[in-house]
Amino acid sequence: MRWKKALSTMNPYKPGRSTEDVKKAYRLDEVVKLASNENPYGCASTVTEFLGSTTMPFEIYPDGHATNLRAKLAEKHGVDEESILFGNGSDEIISIISRALLDEQVHTIMLTPSFPQYAHNARIEGADVTEIPLKDGRLDLNDYIGAINGQTAVIWVCNPNNPTGTLIPSNELEHFLEQVPENILVVLDEAYFEYVTDPQNVDSITLLNRFPNILVMRTFSKAYGLASFRIGFAVGSSVIITELNKVRNPFNNNTLAIAVASKALEDDAFIEHCRKLNEKQRKRYEAFAAEKGIHMFDSETNFVLIEVPGDADEAAEFLLKHGYIVRSGNALGTPGYVRITMGTEEQNTGVLQAFTLLLQEKGR
Ligand code: PMP
Repeated sequence: MRWKKALSTMNPYKPGRSTEDVKKAYRLDEVVKLASNENPYGCASTVTEFLGSTTMPFEIYPDGHATNLRAKLAEKHGVDEESILFGNGSDEIISIISRALLDEQVHTIMLTPSFPQYAHNARIEGADVTEIPLKDGRLDLNDYIGAINGQTAVIWVCNPNNPTGTLIPSNELEHFLEQVPENILVVLDEAYFEYVTDPQNVDSITLLNRFPNILVMRTFSKAYGLASFRIGFAVGSSVIITELNKVRNPFNNNTLAIAVASKALEDDAFIEHCRKLNEKQRKRYEAFAAEKGIHMFDSETNFVLIEVPGDADEAAEFLLKHGYIVRSGNALGTPGYVRITMGTEEQNTGVLQAFTLLLQEKGR
């Protein structure tokens, strides 16, 4: 068959191990999955109450315009309804952007290590991909500017970045945006926006009037605790959204996901509560790393990228045996580190105890 050339060097997505699988393999009663940056506090009670009581016309196709959710979200962010695009998770928005803008004739820029779906989708479309390495653990946006060429169509900025967790200061981001030519789309992937506590951080949706070539991506999968429903959104100029909508499948969000996301928007207090709990746990990890003299990236998210003694796969395996599923940095482009999603207070106590045993075993 005449498969796209790019597929010959690619692999299908390999899901992480499930808690049931790990329980069986290691004979554990309790296993905590801290590998995919989900919300350990679940979702808002407005959602769970709604789900318990709702009946819906499931035989009818979903509202392909997500009319009610769109109206609520537009009001919340003070934008036009035509400025919003919904996706089956922000994963789908990444593939919509790639399908709409990338092909063999164009060039795209992203950071490495960062969220792998940008490179994955760009390669499927055959685009020329430039991956900018971190410099001293930080993204230097001047390197992005230096990589722009006449064929550049899309620049991907993951902010805060996954897997490092670090945030680009708003003044640096704005200075960068001032230098990017207007015909290049800058995607600001802000999947962890709700967890940011830096008081200097500017909500980039408010930058849309100044920089009409940006597209801000957010998701209901993280702080909103709705990952299983697969719903994310992007906010941009109506001109950009109209083009992207040409590529979007007509019924890409299901009826229940649309309804549930809409309910979740009614409970800002839940998000605030999760942000505060998360910040407290983040401080515990920071104190732990400082006390043990190990490096941890500054995180503005619900996960930390923390140095481990020895090989990262071995460290992840050690934590797995103690009932904690984390991501080895070897698979994330950060050897020598593991990425841990911050769980509840109790879960983190367990992780830090297991981590201490790991350090002891390695004589640290
Ligand atoms: N962007 C980033 C930076 C992420 O970490 C993730 C999820 N891991 C996504 C996008 C995709 O999120 P979703 O498709 O669940 O909205």
